[in-house]
Amino acid sequence: MRNGENEKMRNWLCRVCAQPNFSFSHFLIFSISSFFLIFLISILFSCDKATDTISRRYPCRFIFDGQQHPTSLVFAAVKSPGTYVYVTTTGDGRTTARHVYVTLNDGKTPREDNVIRTDRENYSAFQLGASNDIGLFIGCTNFNGPVAYDRACPNCVSLTALDFAGNRQQVHCSKCNRTYDLETSAIITGGEGEPLMRYAVTYNGTILTVGN
Ligand SMILES: [Zn+2]
Repeated sequence: MRNGENEKMRNWLCRVCAQPNFSFSHFLIFSISSFFLIFLISILFSCDKATDTISRRYPCRFIFDGQQHPTSLVFAAVKSPGTYVYVTTTGDGRTTARHVYVTLNDGKTPREDNVIRTDRENYSAFQLGASNDIGLFIGCTNFNGPVAYDRACPNCVSLTALDFAGNRQQVHCSKCNRTYDLETSAIITGGEGEPLMRYAVTYNGTILTVGN
């Protein structure tokens, strides 16, 4: 009876892995399967990581209403691949008038000055990442849609503003001498370090929101 049960077990193992009995081969198959399982799980986790590239080093919250500022360069930039602006802001909208300044990457268009007048827009405090004076880059990449980055250099300890450089799809830090690519956020020249600090962008055709 016992021999019969052992025989059954062997036959079952035979069907599972085509080996005559539970041996080193079974162990090998088990190990390889486990390895692939761990590999698949690690891929799943790394996918989570890839979507989580939003910088949280500084709080960021910027909302801009296209109905109030229909001709603003911000909206032109967010819709046109290869076009970028940087945005700075002054005033709190209560004791002093709030302004949103926009500078285009063509190097010649005068800086745009938007006065924020409505309570709806003044309701939420603007926090443009590291500094309202340094501000944010906002624009549209050629291959990955709208993007926003902190304008502060991610590799300089003291806050340093980056400026458009090269073909103006790049930005440069005059302090550490690194140049970054606005298409990918990566460093192009100047040595290793952190990429640009990226923020989430949503644009529904009217309201533009940047944040983290
Ligand atoms: Zn720098």
